[in-house]
Parts: sequence; structure tokens; C-alpha cells
Amino acid sequence: MAESLGDLARTHYCGSLREEHVGQSVTLMGWAATRRDLGGVIFVDLRDREGICQVVARPEVSAPAHASADRVRGEYVVAVVGEVAARSADTVNPNLPTGRVEVLAREIRVLSEARTPAFPIEDDLGTHEEIRLKYRYLDLRRPKLQQNLRLRHRATMEIRRYLDEQGFCEIETPMLGKSTPEGARDYLVPSRLHHGHFYALPQSPQLFKQILMISGLDRYFQIARCFRDEDLRADRQPEFTQVDVELSFPRMETIFELVEPLFQRVLGLVGAEAPRPFPRLSYAEALLRYGSDKPDLRFAMPITDVSDELAVLGLANYPGLLEAGARARAIVVPASGGLSGMRLRKINEELWLGRIVGDARAEKRNLLTLKATDETLANLARKGASEEVARRLLAKAGAGKDDVVLVGVDQPGPVAMGMGLLRLEMGRELKLVDEAAYRFLWVTDFPLLEFDREEKRWVSLHHPFTAPRDEDLALLDTEPGRVRAKAYDIVLNGYEVGGGSLRIHDSTLQARIFRLLSISDEEARERFGYFLEALQYGTPPHGGIALGLDRIAMILAGETSLRQVIAFPKTASGTDLMTGSPASVRDDQLRDLGLIAVRK
Ligand code: ASP
Repeated sequence: MAESLGDLARTHYCGSLREEHVGQSVTLMGWAATRRDLGGVIFVDLRDREGICQVVARPEVSAPAHASADRVRGEYVVAVVGEVAARSADTVNPNLPTGRVEVLAREIRVLSEARTPAFPIEDDLGTHEEIRLKYRYLDLRRPKLQQNLRLRHRATMEIRRYLDEQGFCEIETPMLGKSTPEGARDYLVPSRLHHGHFYALPQSPQLFKQILMISGLDRYFQIARCFRDEDLRADRQPEFTQVDVELSFPRMETIFELVEPLFQRVLGLVGAEAPRPFPRLSYAEALLRYGSDKPDLRFAMPITDVSDELAVLGLANYPGLLEAGARARAIVVPASGGLSGMRLRKINEELWLGRIVGDARAEKRNLLTLKATDETLANLARKGASEEVARRLLAKAGAGKDDVVLVGVDQPGPVAMGMGLLRLEMGRELKLVDEAAYRFLWVTDFPLLEFDREEKRWVSLHHPFTAPRDEDLALLDTEPGRVRAKAYDIVLNGYEVGGGSLRIHDSTLQARIFRLLSISDEEARERFGYFLEALQYGTPPHGGIALGLDRIAMILAGETSLRQVIAFPKTASGTDLMTGSPASVRDDQLRDLGLIAVRK
């Protein structure tokens, strides 16, 4: 039976007790993590959000407290009144911050009983994630998740404080709105009052924040919930949180100067630093050097183009490919990695052909492996290849003695990305990634548009409100694919943690871009008419960025899953296992929304 809290008032958190409290009378409240009965003396480890403290119930100190302790089971909620005592030297627990003290109970009240939980409340347990998500309230009692949520809170507060100091005003924008295209499917909400009409949950507050600039708010931010109905990947959730920012009259530099100190402040929370200015790479350079638009710079291993060398080397492995425009790109695996010939063959089969190129029969796309030894070179020479060119190739790739150069050959786009994936795999496999580092990178000069081969039309790489670079405007009609955008992404440790752009603030240019995207004037009017109209009432040049708060929290917490930093996350198939959503609804609810005919 549960007892009443009565007039008991907590004096300390369990996890906060230290030697300095010895002799004090304290009142603690928490969950019984464990209970041990050592022949008359009962020990209860009491847990609250600050940690665990040992409570001792001895019949000679208090018979009623001892009797109550006897009833306590795992996860019971208990109030303890007692005295803090120093533990004897042989019972000190060096693994607990409170391990030098214990509380001798004078009174114990069982405030709430608990059913036996489906899994023990401990970190690093092997419990299947589905079970943990079903009982998320138990899962969240784990110290690591508690720390993660509190770290996330502190990051959010730091960001709020910083943006406030910089003159930004936090403004909420509607959840029930009209579609803003960010390239994903909308979540739609049917209107009860207007059958056949739907609100769209925001993919981002993009157009609202731009309109706030037209309204003269000058500097806006919002910790904004966004919704995108996409197939989920490990680092995505259907609803996620962005630090959404927009400001008037910025240059790209203004954005970089605003965001870099923000990240420095946030890193300060985990005692880490990132020197400014953050490095920058153009999108094209990032692809060439790292085979990715979000390279992980915690290790080097750059990619080099060795097409010229391979073409004249005299190896017959790639007939016709290089002549037909394929490129050859190389990474250097350091000798210290100690890859055996067997492992190299497996890397070719499983990684390169299997997972990366995805076609194990494409023999002529085999990775070429070249070990920087005199023996390999002599071997090549015996096969009729030029030793001098081979040496040049090794030097260009930057290989030292005994290093292994891996060369992939394919069409320009795919091979760059393929080598990027291989680079990541090798970096991880050889433990080259500096796990303690935080490496930022700005990626700039994205193409404004890319051609969608399926839909046979140009689509925005960022979103359709992104401004083209002034010097590329002339190419809009002739070579749209070469127009670069005033867009930038910020990458941290191989994750895209933010992206934004300077916007089009001219309605004529905006209309022209819509036409380029094959959005007819009529469709543009119907979807964004309000915005095109607003642009005509005196629009300041403006721009902004959105930072992915979930990902930032995940990286800060040293986690690899977003679910570790979101209190109530969804599974990969978009379900909430605790509440059981999505769920079916009653017929009358559907009827109200005009969604099905009335069934008799
Ligand atoms: N709305 C963009 C996004 O969600 C960010 C921006 O352009 O500010 O990715």
C-alpha cells in the first residue's frame, strides 16, 4: 500500500550527498535501484536524477524503518529520513560519487509500489530497443538518458541565450499551415470546417521566417519542430527540431560569423573547443577530395585524381573506361594499418564491388591495389607497365613506403562518392578517426539546381527560395546546371548539422526560378501566391540557416542514434511504441473530417 508524502520535504538529491554532509539529518526521495538483505541489515540503493546513494536500515536504529525497508522492491518510490554517516574504509565504494557516505534510516515511507520492470534500469544493457521504447518511462530512468536530455536542455538554453545576446527575437510560427517545399512529403491534417482541404505540418518554417523579414523583424529565431514524411534512416526522425534562424541584410560571412561562436559556446558545455574560422570547402572540392558533401574531417585520407597516371600506366585492366571519360581516384591506406593481401581482396569484393559499387560482376571496376614497395613496382614493370608512371602515381596520391594505394575507376560522379564511402569505411576500420575531436566544415557553392532524370526537370538542391550567385545569373537560361547557389551547409564530424542560404528577395527572379523548376505561373500562384505577393511590398535582402538540434545533441552526447537524445522518439518505421501511434480513429471522427462516406 502506498503511503502519503504527508509533510515530508526533500532536503537533498540522493546523488548529491558527500562527506561534507556527514552528521546531517536529510530527507531523500527516489526509486529503489536495488535492495539487499544482509541478515538483519537492509541496504537500499536509492536513485534520483542526480545519482544513487546507499540507505541502510538497521532494526536497532529504527525498527519501523527496517520493517518498511523489508517491503521495498525494485523501482518502488521511497522517502527516507535519516542521518548521513561516513562509511568505514573497507565499505567505501570508489565507483559511486556518493560512495564515501551512507544514510542511516530513521524513517522510510513507501510512496509508490512498482511492478517488476521489463528490464533492469541500467546503462549498457542488452535489452532490445523495441522493449525499451515500449516502456520508455523506465528507459528514461537510466542515468545515460537522463544525462543526454539534460545536456540537450543545456545546449538549447545556451543557444537561446546566445541568439538573444545577438539581438535575435524568438517567434513562433504555425504548425497548421500550407506546404513549404523542402523536398520531402508533407504530413497533412484534414480540416473539419473545410472538407476536402488540408493543413500541412511544416517541413520547416521557411516562408514564415522570410515573411518575418519582410515584416521588419530583422533577426528571428525559433527552436522549431519540423515534420517530413520520408523513409527514415538512422539519423532521421519524422519530426525533428531545428534551430531556425533568419536575418536581414546578411552577407554569407555574416552567417558564418554568427554560427561559429554559437557552436563554440555549445561545445564549451562538454569542455571541447573548435578553433575559428571553421574550414571551408566548395561542394565540388568536397566531392573531389573526400567523395562526400559532408566529409568527416576527424581523419585525413584525402582522395586524389590519378586518371592521367592510370591512363598511361599501361595496365590492361580498364579497357575503354578511362577513354570514355571515367575517372580514377585513389586513397592511401597507411602501412601501419597492416592490411593483409587477403583483407584487401575482401575489401574489393565486399566493400567496393559489393556494397559500394553494388555490382560484384563488374570486374573491370575492381579496385586496383598498389603497394608502395620496390617489389610491387618491379612486378608491374615485368607485366609491361611503366615503373616511372607507377612511381608518379604513388607520389601524387601521397603514398609513403609500404603504404597501400586503392584506386577506383568509374564515372566522375559515382566514383567520387564510392571512394568517399570507402574512405569512411577504411578510416573506421583502421581506427584513424579521432573520436575525441570535433571537426567543423562549411561546405559552400552548392549547385543551385540538379536535373531529376526521372521527372525530367530541374529541381532545387536546397529549396526554391535560395538565391543564385550574382556572377552566375547569366547562366540561368543557358546552363542552369552550372549556376551556383548562395547556399552553405555546416558539417560536424561527418554529419550535416545545418544548412541555409541567402534568399531571393526579388519577385521577378523568384518567378523565373519557379519557371525553371517547371512550376507554372498558375501553380506558383496557387502554392506560394501569398509569398510572391509579399515579396512585392519592400523585401530586405535576407538569409538564414537551420541547425539540426537533435543531431547536435547526439554528437555532444557521444551517441550514434538520435533516439538517445529525444525523449519520445519514433522507430525506423515511424511508430511510437509506447503510445501505439499511428492508430486508427473512430468512424465518426473520419466523418467529421469528411474523409469517408457515412456507413449505415
Ligand atoms: N529551411 C531550410 C531547411 O530546413 C534551412 C534554411 O534555408 O534556413 O533545411
